[in-house]
Amino acid sequence: EHIKKYFPIKGGIFKRAVGHVKAVDDVSFTVKEGETLGIVGESGSGKSTLGRVLLRLLEPTEGTIKFQGLDISHWSDRKLRPIRKDMQMVFQDPYGSLNSRMSVKELIEEPLIVQTGLSKREREDRVVEMLEKVGLNPEDRLKYPHEFSGGQRQRIGIARALVLNPKLVICDEPVSALDVSIQAQVLNLMADLQEEFHLTYLFIAHDLSVVKHISDRIAVMYLGRLVEIAPKKELYENPLHPYTRALLSSVPSIHSRKRREKIILQGDLPSPANPPSGCAFRTRCPFAHDRCASERPELLPKADDHYVACHLYDEK
Ligand code: SF4
Ligand code: MG
Repeated sequence: EHIKKYFPIKGGIFKRAVGHVKAVDDVSFTVKEGETLGIVGESGSGKSTLGRVLLRLLEPTEGTIKFQGLDISHWSDRKLRPIRKDMQMVFQDPYGSLNSRMSVKELIEEPLIVQTGLSKREREDRVVEMLEKVGLNPEDRLKYPHEFSGGQRQRIGIARALVLNPKLVICDEPVSALDVSIQAQVLNLMADLQEEFHLTYLFIAHDLSVVKHISDRIAVMYLGRLVEIAPKKELYENPLHPYTRALLSSVPSIHSRKRREKIILQGDLPSPANPPSGCAFRTRCPFAHDRCASERPELLPKADDHYVACHLYDEK
């Protein structure tokens, strides 16, 4: 609720804070148990920072994070430790996120050593079981990450994230670094594992095509703010925010010849250190009008479970 994460910009010879990057700027939403919420936005929109704040890998500047009813916004590392196993992250880069000096067995076993009292034998059994679940050969467990392909490495990352039986998994662009031909396999695996382990996913991506199949609802982020959130079908069939419509215009689709006019996104994302006043999207929006420069649009309900932050839908 109302999450903000600001990073100081340091300048001058005394390295004092001379401003802030508003990476996440007043974001509120709920992730329901068992669902997949997709979060989409260009790089620099604050998606990864939001994911890290939600898992309390970062502390929010302001706002409240509740996990299973508990307000964990400002818990210490020590207090967070017992619930860490319930909240895991799958990272974008299967090359950089796995320690190259650890074998596959060591990588998957490490969370079990830190978080559980399992015996060596029990841990070994669990590693073998997880490798089978993610479609890797358990006999390869003494190999090192560089001996695997990119898709296999992401499977190792997934096994490591799931070995403690988490409830919530934040997937930060887990297939972006993979060949397109491998992406669907990994997405299918993640969907199967979600069902088998009753996982809740927050699935971060930079384009709408990746989250299309896996998401139940989709949130669109722009410059640290949520601009639209809706059930998937509703968002694809009835996108309201000009930014969402621009993102959909660039997704090739058999349905794209519908009445909806295309919006071509112009220009670059403005700096989050110096965002436009009022509506942050106004510098790229073909519908921008006076009110957009002076007043920040609130995220308001427009239909069942469909919220949008745009003055076009908020008649005053
Ligand atoms: Fe465009 Fe104004 Fe809506 Fe922002 S509030 S998306 S500038 S019409
Ligand atoms: Mg990112």
